[in-house]
Amino acid sequence: MSAGPSAVRLCHLYPEHMNIYADRGNIAVFRRRLEWRGLKLEVAEVGLGDSIPADCHLYYLGGGQDRDQALVAENLARKAGPLRQAAEDGAVVLGVCGGYQLLGHSYTASDGRRMPGTGLLDLETAAGNSRLIGDVVLDVTLMGQTSEVVGYENHAGRTHLGGGCTPLGRLRRGHGNNGDDGCEGAVAGRLVGTYVHGPLLPKNPWLADALLGWALDHAGGPAGLEPLDDSIEHAAHAVARTRAGRKR
Ligand code: GLN
Repeated sequence: MSAGPSAVRLCHLYPEHMNIYADRGNIAVFRRRLEWRGLKLEVAEVGLGDSIPADCHLYYLGGGQDRDQALVAENLARKAGPLRQAAEDGAVVLGVCGGYQLLGHSYTASDGRRMPGTGLLDLETAAGNSRLIGDVVLDVTLMGQTSEVVGYENHAGRTHLGGGCTPLGRLRRGHGNNGDDGCEGAVAGRLVGTYVHGPLLPKNPWLADALLGWALDHAGGPAGLEPLDDSIEHAAHAVARTRAGRKR
């Protein structure tokens, strides 16, 4: 490994409100996968009363119920300037479910209430009159590498992408963005959004490393991540894939 900063700074947005289906587990995965390589994760938690730092390498916004999402949406839209700046400078942004929806232009809940998003991702979401629930399997291509992602989804929102981003992956199982077009999630540069909970990263270690690789690059840290023994993670991934297969 080349020399360079040994810590990734992560900004955890609204951990009190936007943390459903163990989304906090994604942070634990980032931390452990860095520590196993002799690197560190520093976490800045940002709540309703805090400003968003512009100097983090990785920003994380998890999922939440409509009630919690409504509590944070305007707050986030109002103070998203540093987040937008950091993203433009090359920071990584990961949004999961409700967090994914708030990376878009807006989310309209089932009661018609329209919550503003940050507009970082060119997409719109509106709740449908049923929930899209179940195990998900999709093929994701990032940086020329296609790999399988597994997880769980539970959302009312139907998300439609504009021309400024592309789907994160193609579904093999599950409903994904809207239950219609076979697509899941969105990506634009280093901005990634997905409906996959469960949490997302423990069963999909290659995706965790792709995001960490970008974050380390932005931090000016070591180029390339040493491979880890992911046999436990791969076993968990296989169980989730089998379960998803059985449900159809
Ligand atoms: N409130 C959103 C929806 O139901 C997000 C739910 C979630 O984060 N699980 O569509």
